[in-house]
Amino acid sequence: MNWLDIDKAHVWHPYNALPSKTKILPVKSTNKTSIFLEDGKELIDGMSSWWSAIHGYNHPKLNEALKKQVDIMPHIMFGGLAHEQSSILSKKLIDLTGLNSVFLCDSGSVSVEVALKTAILYQKAKGLKKYKFLALENAYHGDTLGAMSVCDPNNSMHSIYGTYLSEHIFTKAPELGFQSDCSDSIIELEKILKKHNEEIAAFILEPIVQGAGGMRIYNPNYLKKARELCSKYDILLIADEIATGFGHTGRMFACEWAEIKPDIMTVGKGLTGGYMTMAAMITSKNVSDLISNSDIGVLMHGPTFMANPLACSVANASIDLLRDTSWQENVKNIETIFTQELEFAKELNLVKSVRNIGAIGVIELKDDCYAQEIQDYCVKNAVWIRPFGKLIYSIVAYTIKEEDLRKIVKTMIDAIKSIKIENEKK
Ligand code: PMP
Repeated sequence: MNWLDIDKAHVWHPYNALPSKTKILPVKSTNKTSIFLEDGKELIDGMSSWWSAIHGYNHPKLNEALKKQVDIMPHIMFGGLAHEQSSILSKKLIDLTGLNSVFLCDSGSVSVEVALKTAILYQKAKGLKKYKFLALENAYHGDTLGAMSVCDPNNSMHSIYGTYLSEHIFTKAPELGFQSDCSDSIIELEKILKKHNEEIAAFILEPIVQGAGGMRIYNPNYLKKARELCSKYDILLIADEIATGFGHTGRMFACEWAEIKPDIMTVGKGLTGGYMTMAAMITSKNVSDLISNSDIGVLMHGPTFMANPLACSVANASIDLLRDTSWQENVKNIETIFTQELEFAKELNLVKSVRNIGAIGVIELKDDCYAQEIQDYCVKNAVWIRPFGKLIYSIVAYTIKEEDLRKIVKTMIDAIKSIKIENEKK
């Protein structure tokens, strides 16, 4: 049995059956912004490993950090012990976010779980029994049960698990696009908070871009107002920056678009430059002090791989790279190229709309049945993207070459055109 046969017979892939219902390609290696398949074919990476590989693969500085750390200490339990790399990383995260306290965990979903638990503890420490969360329609916050419970209830994940998921409150998603000031969704938010503030512990949202729930970009005005209203009603604001964080929207964190600070932030994906599985929950001093000085006293969470030194050291190197490189300029150039190239998709029959911000470019189709066909076309033409439903999108490493990015978008558009030609033939 070769390794791909083992994979086919025994290994689950994300959002899939066993054996997989969708095509799985065998990867041999990665370098910079290229993926090399077992048969030697090179694909330009238009996904940066689900928003994580922000510097590209095999970066000498990141490799060096990891190699150096593995000889010093690959892992050590964090219960009762501390190490230098986690302190250095925590200080960097505090300095970048303006927040105060860091919980280092092993995946984005877990950081969301910890954020939800922290919000409940905070309210409890205040003597309040607030067990509900407010979230947005189209929200996506991860695949563990607590995180799923604050994902859009119209999402199929909800209906499958039924009453096993706890019930929360959802409000109208901010209107699509920077051109709307989001007045309708803000009015609804205000109404809901007025009515339910005594039961809501926190409002969780993805700032500026709702990712997996539709790649929806919205006006910072909504975020500003959400901050104001949460403060008014003493509801914590949780900014889930797992996807948007570390520069994807052109700012280090998407909250900067509205010049607001959340009470709790979750980060992941780009944190380690896509090298290691690590995420973090970061809170304000107010939140950590209130819990720590209360009768509750402790945050009851402690994963085995909390603050893994390998992950911390590569995260430190990744943040240093952002500090030492002109990533903002690179992301600005990427944004300009996306804007120019996506223009050519606008007039296509199958296309509903296009949108982009920072390192993210999106084509929304009118129908959701072409994802596999479009992916097949792109792979045939040496580009890796992973469309879902109606969304054909690309999120690239900040180090991508201009001609490669133009090729990604052109190929996405050609893939759509190829479907149109097929339809006309029928
Ligand atoms: N929140 C958001 C906004 C995400 O995009 C994701 C990952 N797609 C998660 C949470 C969950 O992160 P992870 O996949 O690392 O568990």
